[in-house]
Amino acid sequence: MRVIVTGGAGFIGSRLVHALVGEGHETIAIDNLSMGDAGRLPAGVKLYKLQVEAPETTEWISRLRPGAVFHLAAQVGMGSSLQAPSEDGLSNVIGTLRVLEGCRQAGSKLVFSSTSGVYGESKGKRLLKETSPKLPFAPYGLSKWTAEEYIRKSGDWWGGSYTILRYANVYGPGQTARGEGGVVACFMARIRDGLPLVIHGDGEQSRDFVHVDDIVKANLAALERGDGEVCNIGTGVATSVNRLADCCERLSGSGSLGRIYEPSRNGDVRCSRLSSARAESILGWKPSIPLELGLSRLLGGMNL
Ligand code: NAD
Repeated sequence: MRVIVTGGAGFIGSRLVHALVGEGHETIAIDNLSMGDAGRLPAGVKLYKLQVEAPETTEWISRLRPGAVFHLAAQVGMGSSLQAPSEDGLSNVIGTLRVLEGCRQAGSKLVFSSTSGVYGESKGKRLLKETSPKLPFAPYGLSKWTAEEYIRKSGDWWGGSYTILRYANVYGPGQTARGEGGVVACFMARIRDGLPLVIHGDGEQSRDFVHVDDIVKANLAALERGDGEVCNIGTGVATSVNRLADCCERLSGSGSLGRIYEPSRNGDVRCSRLSSARAESILGWKPSIPLELGLSRLLGGMNL
């Protein structure tokens, strides 16, 4: 099948592109390379260097008539979204509308990468279900939620085919500590340099860490299944940032590098963990890489 991956040169997108090519799909990437790296794309994959919010995105999708569009291009930083909500809205809301219009014209399925950020703060350590209240704190969560709403409505307006995947905290090979890089990538970079690990807040905030290869599998499953559905993609396991730091040090054999505690970041939720029961019943998807295994593989790949 011909497929398009927006954000295809990014952390998750490039991993997905490799998997799609491996499965024999004719894969095309759209990316403005603001955070992505064209060097991550396999040979032979065509890259359209575009702002996803530009009208050309709709035109290219319409012209190329892919069977599916995986839409990952986005402004992904919570802090950046607070600094520049208009830019966040342009990428995440207008960008999604451009993709959506292209999918309507081409008759393509849309697989949308959303985030646990749409839920905002949850009470206690409750598992978040797809039906849990949506109380996004930052423009990032709000723009992703708004994009989701457009996608859902488009099903009513035009009968388009879509699956929305809401990811927990993704980690794995290819993630960088650049910008507001994931905490795992930030810890790995500090361990490599023998520096103390930097933690925002008291470190007792907890997250649901899901491996990028499990995210890729969920996207592949959505090619065939999950029409008109929204599914959380997480492990259901909450790990505190302090515990993650201990684990990274232990598995790397670095010994204790010490900690630097910095003020907590505006909008950092206390606990986030996702129930993926729906993904299991609808997509046949389950997380397959436990955190310690994923971290060991990452550390192994770093040749410390
Ligand atoms: P990333 O920054 O590595 O990838 C995003 C890609 O989109 C980059 O290559 C960037 O250059 C490109 N991009 C950004 N703005 C663009 C624009 N306006 N036009 C065209 N291209 C643009 O981030 P990622 O972690 O790979 O995230 C991919 C998707 O997954 C995003 O939609 C993100 O919201 C979602 N997500 C990620 C996580 C996570 O923990 N990494 C969690 C939940 C959801």
